[in-house]
Parts: sequence; structure tokens; C-alpha cells
Amino acid sequence: MASVCSGCECNYFEFIQKFYKNNEAAIAYLRDHGVLPLEVICPRCKNTCHYREDRHTWYCGAWTKIPKTKRRRQCYYSASDFKGSFISGARIEPYKIVCFVNHWLSKQWDNEIVKQCLGLSNVTRITWQTNCAEVTEHWLDNQEPIGGPGVVVDIDETLFGKMKHEEGKSQSQIWVFGGIERDSKNYFISPLEEPLTENLMSLILKYILPGTVIVSNRWNAYSAISDHDYVHQVINHSGDFVDKENAKAHTQSVELLFHDVKEWTMKPGSRPHFYKHYLARLLFQQQHTHSSINHYFFREAARMYPPDFETEEPSPTSDVDVKEESNDHESQESEVSD
Ligand SMILES: [Zn+2]
Ligand SMILES: [Zn+2]
Repeated sequence: MASVCSGCECNYFEFIQKFYKNNEAAIAYLRDHGVLPLEVICPRCKNTCHYREDRHTWYCGAWTKIPKTKRRRQCYYSASDFKGSFISGARIEPYKIVCFVNHWLSKQWDNEIVKQCLGLSNVTRITWQTNCAEVTEHWLDNQEPIGGPGVVVDIDETLFGKMKHEEGKSQSQIWVFGGIERDSKNYFISPLEEPLTENLMSLILKYILPGTVIVSNRWNAYSAISDHDYVHQVINHSGDFVDKENAKAHTQSVELLFHDVKEWTMKPGSRPHFYKHYLARLLFQQQHTHSSINHYFFREAARMYPPDFETEEPSPTSDVDVKEESNDHESQESEVSD
């Protein structure tokens, strides 16, 4: 069995050149990245199905002997190539989907370009923007944990959005929490939802490995860190030299951590309702080079919607055809292809 792509590069224009108006290439690309199945095992008889390209369908067609009789039965299991996948239920051609994603991942998104060049209605455009956003949000929610025994991780929280001068949090603001390894600069960033204290601790446990030396400010919500398997250092600006150095390094780290996000939140028109959506897309763009971003996007789409052919509804009896033993084995191809 072939395996999925472990890494490929293709810049924005090369991607368009390869896939624009080319459904065959787009489907092959989706298959290479695990969005579509490389093989399908029949859930009824565990036979490897065969694929019919013209119908985008997998067929079983295996023959099994009926015990104590001379008869055999053929399995008529079939399933759409797109079943359960990122493109399942799509009403637009595969090449339009991959080209849409390619444009969505670029920094210069333009509604009119996708509508005109791909011939999409507003509704379809919005649907696919949502589908794409879900993939990057899934990625954001499943970032690799950082730290480990003895590794120093600086953490910080910040409130983004407008009306910072007012008391408390307004509707247009969002808490963002993150951590960064002081040496490697590996990091994670996550929106922090209410209730802050509970969610904060679950984000720390999710994204920071046990044994990590966590350096934070004095925020009360961080006091629970030492109840877990971490070394917790609280920065102290007024302390001795060691403390001061630690505080300085901490400040530099967290500035780096939130730098790009801050820049983005200053932009007009970032509607609060879509903050997580924006944040996920922005971070995804930042963490991947422009020529590898499509690769990582489709790998994530495959993780989020893994092709699943193991489960199916109980098969209706009419799906099973009983044949006499004398039937030619070789005829099964034509039997299933009606
Ligand atoms: Zn690839
Ligand atoms: Zn079967």
C-alpha cells in the first residue's frame, strides 16, 4: 500500500498551474495527503476493494462460499471515495476545492477573486471559508506540547481587542494564553475562554509537558501550577541579579510570543466573533512556509476527517447476491460494474 506524502513544496502559482481545472490531479493530490483513501477494506468481508475512477467509488465484489452449500455469494459493498472526508458532500469540483484552499492560505485573501475565478456563489464561498477555518482551528486545538524535564518555558496571558482602557473585558476582547521554550523558541498559543482559572490549568496540562520549569508573572490563576508536576518560578523584577536576569529573559520571550498576534489585532476589521478563526489562520500561516503550507493544511484536514470505511449501516439483504458455484470467478468485475 502506498503511503501518504511526508512533505512537499509547491508555491502559490505552481499550485494553481498544477491543479486549476484539473480534477484528476487534484484528486491524486488529496489522496497523496490522506484526505482521500489510498485503499479501502470492505467492512463486510475484509477484502481490499477496487476503485472506479469514473464513478469516484470503491467496490468490493468479493465472492465467498456459503457454508454447507455449493453456492457462493458476491459482496456488493460500495462506498463513495469522498466518504467522511474533508470534501464529502462537496458541491463543487475537487480542483476548485484545492485552489480555494490555496488562496485561503495565502495572505492576500480576496472574495472577488475566488468568486470570479472559481465561479462560486457567495454561499459556497462562505461554506468553504468555514470548512477551511475549522481545519486550522482543529490544528490550533491540537498543537504539539512543549517543554519537558528541566526545559524552561515562559508563559503569559494577554487580553487582545479594542477598548482596553475600560474596566474588565468587553465583548470585543479575547484572552490569549501562550507558552514559549526559552531556548528553542518552540511555542503554542491558544484562546483562553471563561472561566479563566480552570481553563488556564487545563491548557497548561495539555500543552506543557511534565517536569518543565514554568516561568510566569504573579497572576493568581498561575498559583495552581505548583500543585502539578512542574517547577514553577514567579518572576520578581525587584529581586537580586538572578531574578532580574530571569525577569528580563521572560519579558523577551513573551514579547516574541505575542508579537505577531498583537500586530494582527491592531488591524481594523477583525471582528471579535471570528477571533479564534482569525487567530488560527494567522498562526497557521506563520508556522508554515508559503510553499509547504498546502501540504500541512491537507494533512491536518485528513487528521480531522480521516477516511473511515470500517463502519457502515447494517447492509440491506438486497445488497447480497447469491450465485451458483459454476459462475466464473473472473466475471466478478463485470458483475459489480453493471
Ligand atoms: Zn505533501
Ligand atoms: Zn465485501
